[in-house]
Order: sequence, then C-alpha cells, then structure tokens
Amino acid sequence: MEKVRVTGGSPLWTRPEFATIPFCPGCQEPVASEALLQVLEETGLVGEAIAVVGIGCNSFLPFLWKMDFVMAAHGRPPDVATAVKRILKYPLVFTVQGDGDCFAIGAGSTVSAAIRGEKITIIMLNNNNYGTTGGQMSPTTLLGQKTSTTALGRGGNEEGFPAHVAETMATFKGVCYSARTAVNDPASFQRTKRCLRTAFQMQMEGLGLSFVEIIVACPPNRRLSPLETIKWIDDEVLAEFPLGEFKNVGREEMEDREPVEVKG
Ligand code: SF4
Repeated sequence: MEKVRVTGGSPLWTRPEFATIPFCPGCQEPVASEALLQVLEETGLVGEAIAVVGIGCNSFLPFLWKMDFVMAAHGRPPDVATAVKRILKYPLVFTVQGDGDCFAIGAGSTVSAAIRGEKITIIMLNNNNYGTTGGQMSPTTLLGQKTSTTALGRGGNEEGFPAHVAETMATFKGVCYSARTAVNDPASFQRTKRCLRTAFQMQMEGLGLSFVEIIVACPPNRRLSPLETIKWIDDEVLAEFPLGEFKNVGREEMEDREPVEVKG
C-alpha cells in the first residue's frame, strides 16, 4: 500500500525521520491529530499533557508528536490513563483510540472509567472498521457495510447493530462531557477543535470524564477513493451517527455527585 508523508500546520508535529509512517492516502487520523495538536498549542497545555495510545493505526501518532506519551496494551488506555492521572498527576491526560480499541476489546475499560468518573479525556477515532488488521467489522460498522468479515454487508440479525458510543458515554453519571464530531470539512475541523477544547477544559477543572468521538475516513478499507469516502461519510455515516454534544455538565451539577456521608 502506498504511504504518504504526514504534514500539518502545528509545530508539534516532529520527528521527520518518521514522516513516512504508515497512513494511507486520504486517512483522516492525521487530520484529527492536527486538530488535537492545534488545541494543545493554542491553550498552552502541551507541557501539562500526556497521551496514552493503544493498538491501531493511531498508535503511530505519538512517535510523530513532540509531547509525552505512553503506549498501553490493546484496549487498556483508559486503565493506564487512570494510573497516570492518579499517580503521576499530570494535569491533562488523554487517550487516543480507535473504535475497536475503545469499544470492542476495550469496552470494559472504557465503561469502567466512565463509571468511576475518572478525570481523564478519551478521544475515540471512529473509522467504522478495524483499519490496522485489514478492515474487519467493528462495533461501529454500519448496517449493510461490507467489510472483510461481512462480505455481504453487516446484517443486524447476524452481526448486531452499530454501537453509538458518544450517546452511551453520556448516560454515565461520572461523565461530564460527551460529543461526536468529524473532520470532513473546515467547519467540522473547527467544531472538533471546540469540542476538544471543552473536553480538556472540563478535565482541567476536575469535573469528570470527558469523551470526544471523531468520525474519520479510512478509504482503502472501504475500497473507495479519499473523496468517495468523504461523500460516504456525509451521506451514510453521519445519518447513523449524528454530530453534536450529548452531554455538557457544569460544575454545580457535577459537585452534586460527590459521595454523600453515610450516617449511623
Ligand atoms: S488503514 Fe485506515 S485508519 Fe489505518 S492508516 Fe489506512 S486509512 Fe488510516
């Protein structure tokens, strides 16, 4: 597969010797990362921050970033981020995970961190398949979507229905913020930056777990060109997975959730 050079506007991209690290043409994981790095730079938080990554195409990203990071076992970034936040006390701890890492093998870790209300941010890059290992069906694969394990298209009766992760995360009391964004066009890119800024701000204020799902294109596994993939996202992915904020809870409401004293 042809590999492309990663370029971005943020000066936090570094390590030119790794600049041909494997992202396929049209992959939007580096685009989502550019939004993330711009937010860190604009908010002056890069020196306060550490990223935790699991297994997936995004696990190459930290090798390209001029910041601290830890690599975790597959699906375990929320657990490692919890330890980093509680023990090393970094002010800003965020994970960058694919939809498989975050909500298939890692579903237990993600849900447990949400239940505990860990003061971390989980960023899930949703490309609707297991990109790294050859495009198998993932929890967020659309109904009817053909993957290498659903050659006839995902059928609800056999393979189940797409998981709506941002909406699910919003149901947990320990979660203060949950949003779904995309990076399909300049306006979406700017909205993604706003969501990331809000999520980080809430973590810095200690309000609870903040979650941002970013829809990203994975053209080779859709067997589509980069532009066709963006049209597919516009027409079909966003119809199944609407963009928006599903939870945005203020300090007063989160403080109401502190444990109550048990008398007697
Ligand atoms: S397989 Fe998909 S997610 Fe992975 S680098 Fe290629 S386009 Fe990006």
